[in-house]
Amino acid sequence: MSAIVAIVGRPNVGKSTFFNRLIQRREAIVDAISGVTRDRHYGKSDWNGKEFSLIDTGGYVVGSDDIFEKEIDKQVELAIDEADAIIFMVDVESGVTGMDEDVAKLLRRIDKPVFLTVNKVDNAKRAADAVEFYALGLGEYYTLSSINGSGTGELLDDLVKVLPEKEMETDDLPRFAVVGRPNAGKSSFINALIGEERYIVTDIAGTTRDSIDTKYNRFGFEFNLVDTAGIRRKAKVKEDLEFYSVMRSVRAIEHCDVCLLLFDATRGFDGQVENIFWLAQRNNKGIVILVNKWDLVGDKETHTMKQYTQKIKQAMEPFTDVPILFISVLTKQRIFKAIETAVEVYKNRSKRIPTRKLNDVMLPIIQNTPPPAYKGKYVKIKFITQLPTPFPQFAFFCNLPQYVRDPYKRFLENKLREHFVFTGVPMSIFMRKK
Ligand code: GDP
Ligand code: GDP
Repeated sequence: MSAIVAIVGRPNVGKSTFFNRLIQRREAIVDAISGVTRDRHYGKSDWNGKEFSLIDTGGYVVGSDDIFEKEIDKQVELAIDEADAIIFMVDVESGVTGMDEDVAKLLRRIDKPVFLTVNKVDNAKRAADAVEFYALGLGEYYTLSSINGSGTGELLDDLVKVLPEKEMETDDLPRFAVVGRPNAGKSSFINALIGEERYIVTDIAGTTRDSIDTKYNRFGFEFNLVDTAGIRRKAKVKEDLEFYSVMRSVRAIEHCDVCLLLFDATRGFDGQVENIFWLAQRNNKGIVILVNKWDLVGDKETHTMKQYTQKIKQAMEPFTDVPILFISVLTKQRIFKAIETAVEVYKNRSKRIPTRKLNDVMLPIIQNTPPPAYKGKYVKIKFITQLPTPFPQFAFFCNLPQYVRDPYKRFLENKLREHFVFTGVPMSIFMRKK
């Protein structure tokens, strides 16, 4: 799990420009959470080999000054709660403003590292103008130009030095993360699993606990639970609760082998649940879908479950080989089955198919249905091997790898799933030159 850096500051100082510059070099894994709240963004970056997550706490509603002030308070609070370090951005063009002073006042009180950063310093003349920001009482400042990138290196050199090393767990137990929207029933699920109430309320500024990892030995299985739900933070606004919750899910997903994605049956597999699903898929994590509160769904004829399943699968296209369980935490219906299924998915994810067997099964299939000729050329697949990665990846060696199109790769994936069972696990297929 990487450390978290938040960018705060009033509107128009260049926060998003800077954010985009930093995450540009990498895939922004979390387009998934933009749209959750107004326009906060979360992405990943790295400097000098050290990886960190970046939050642009941006999001403003346009309105009167006192709305702005409240927004700034919230933004800074969020940063203080979630981040290991804070970049406080100001704008040399406009100089020190009242709003900058308000933010500075909040930041002077906390004991997290704050990097006062004067943006839009595009030239030497502007560098001289930056001295007025000493008045904010935050000590030394950094100058940079988000537009041309100058000064970025100096800031990042110092920034990554103060970031804590976040260690990965070292034991080999399966790591299950319980994720989903607020009120899906995550805490209730975990409490039902461990048979006790456990809440940790953190409303103290400066405490950053995203998830608790606990080792369990239940129902004859030993596993680590990455529990995002046990932590309750006092969010004043519903939207913030959602943001906290999704942020925490994002990090729990990065940190697990299998996600138990819970949602409320009465609310459905909506866009936000879908976002979490794709996030897990893109991170190559095992997935189990738990349709919770099934006790509240009135008509439970078999066809209802079937219809419900069909609707979810539509949203998951083309990755539909995922277990979907209908559970009720309240009545403890299929709680054990949920864990059992997660263990199966874990095993599927770490499954290794011996090369001999893989070729014995797949080569005849390929011979019967070869890749379609492309530009008059015939593709000949000669040999298949599973790569030694933590999740299933397969290399198909052939004469003309570039001529194998996606539909045929999907065909191969489906055949692999049919014969070897990779339920709940995303897989990758590569064509390699032989
Ligand atoms: P945010 O509201 O703080 O996220 O600010 P934006 O990133 O949207 O930037 C506000 C405006 O400042 C935009 O017009 C940017 O093009 C401009 N801007 C951002 N960084 C720089 C910079 O380094 N130099 C100059 N001259 N303009 C910048
Ligand atoms: P979280 O925010 O995802 O941790 O959700 P909670 O565990 O706090 O649950 C939200 C609400 O849903 C609580 O009032 C729970 O009692 C209720 N709840 C959870 N699971 C079930 C269920 O299976 N059936 C019903 N009827 N209510 C449930």
